[in-house]
This record gives sequence, C-alpha cells and structure tokens, in this order.
Amino acid sequence: MEWFEEDYGDVSLKIRIKEVIADFRSRYQRIQLFETFSFGKMLVLDGKIQLTERDEAFYHEMLVHVPMLTHKNPEKVLIIGGGDGGSLREVLKHNPNEAILVELDRDVIDVCRKHLGIDEGAFETANVTVLVEDGMDYVISAKEKFDVVIVDGTDPNPFSQHISSAEFYEACKRISDVFATQSQSPFAQPDYFRTVLENIARVMDFRVYVNYVPSYPLGLWSYAIHAEDCPDIEELKRRFYERNIETVHYNPEIHHASFYLPEWIKKIVNEVKNRDR
Ligand code: SAM
Repeated sequence: MEWFEEDYGDVSLKIRIKEVIADFRSRYQRIQLFETFSFGKMLVLDGKIQLTERDEAFYHEMLVHVPMLTHKNPEKVLIIGGGDGGSLREVLKHNPNEAILVELDRDVIDVCRKHLGIDEGAFETANVTVLVEDGMDYVISAKEKFDVVIVDGTDPNPFSQHISSAEFYEACKRISDVFATQSQSPFAQPDYFRTVLENIARVMDFRVYVNYVPSYPLGLWSYAIHAEDCPDIEELKRRFYERNIETVHYNPEIHHASFYLPEWIKKIVNEVKNRDR
C-alpha cells in the first residue's frame, strides 16, 4: 500500500495512492500526478498538493467567482499561475471577451492537459491566450488594463515568492479594477498569510475571505481581494443568476458569508492594516 504524505512541519496529511501517473522534474519543480483512492487525481508540485479532483472546485470557484461577480461586467481577465486550467475554466463561465493566463512552467500545463483535463477544454477556447513566462515580468511590463486580475500561484518558493511581493501587487493594482489572490492557510501557515497581507497592504486596501479545501494544509484556506465597490447579497444573486453559472461549491450566500471572519483571523488582518498607521 503506497501513501503520499505532505509534511506541514509537525503535522502531515497522508493520502493513499492507487497509481503514479507522472513523476518528473521540470526546469522549475518536481511534478507528480497521482491517482488516489478517495480524492481522484491529485497534482503535487515540489511535495505540495496543488489540487485533487474531489475538492479542486472548492478552491477554484472561490478564487474566481468572488472577484468575477464583484465586477459588474468582467470582459478582460488575467490569471497569473493556474497552469492546471481550473481557474481558467471558471473564468470562462462568465463569458469574458478575453482571458490571458500567464504560467511559468509549461510542463504543468502539458501534464494537466494530457492526464488531468480539469480545464474542460478551456485552453483550446478562441478568446484564451496562454503565455509561458514569469507572472512578475508580465505584470510589470503590461500596458493594457484588465477588469479582473486573479493570482493562482504556489506557496512561496525561489521562483514564486516574487509573485507575492509588494512590487508585484503594486503592478497588479495598476492594471486591474478588481484584484484577487489566494493567501494561504491562516491556521497552518500564519507567517505566509501575514506576509502576503502585509505586502498587499503596502499598496492597496483589501478584504480577506475564507473557505475550506480539505486537501490544503489543515483545510482552512484564505483569499484577499481589492475592489472599489462590493455588491450586496441581492446584487450578487442577481449577477450570479443572470450569468447562469453552474457551480459545485460556490453560491452567493457562501460568497457573502465567507467575508465574516473568526475573531483570531480578524485580529491578524487588523494588525496588518493598522501596522503602518
Ligand atoms: N493555489 C494552488 C496551490 O498553491 O496549491 C495553486 C495551483 S497552480 C498549479 C500554481 C501554479 O503557479 C504552478 O503551476 C506554478 O508553476 C505557477 N507559478 C509559480 N510561480 C509563478 C510565476 N512566477 N509566474 C507564473 N506562474 C507561476
């Protein structure tokens, strides 16, 4: 019996493996794709679970539909990272005129298209452009503006840590109306969480929202969003039904509720926001 184990330091998550579908080193990272017994296929980069078929929608739908429905008419969308195609699939449910995905590692895109297929054809869609380059370089030199910019990146590592830097967030703010990023686990990775928020706070106002993604470190996951206007629940419902979006996890009620934070997370967010005042 073979197990995959993700080590979070003093705690770990073990998932039983049925089959190893791929296991190789790309130019940037070790890429593993497994068939598991209870989570379906599972993508792992450098030993960290990126998604499982069973709960990837919990993550991708909250990362994408919260900012997309915060914008009243998102026509032009940028995704940084997200080479598995899950975020792109969700973005296309809003029928944007144009979506650009900037992923550093071509091998992630290739292995996911070949063996995983959660993009459900999104990569082949006519109004989608896929660029294989560093997300930082892209946003720093971008001349065009986007209605929504979404960051679907990995945990900080040597090639991804700059896409959670203040310089990166400043460039994202310059080119977006609505901006959202995943911001790690406030419980299992409190230092990463705080650092992401501190860097965002240097350049823009933000709100934090949370949901659960069972295969991510200890289940609780967080996101940060910047937007000038936040629609109320009635407007969210109107936009959601008007756009006729089908989801597994997301609904406007969860969207609304996900911004009500427990006291211990509120404390961290408030400390970050009040730090430089
Ligand atoms: N939030 C998911 C997680 O952490 O479990 C993210 C999944 S998605 C597969 C993350 C992608 O971001 C990876 O494919 C990785 O190659 C990409 N990435 C990392 N650093 C990047 C950078 N600097 N520019 C563009 N893409 C990057």
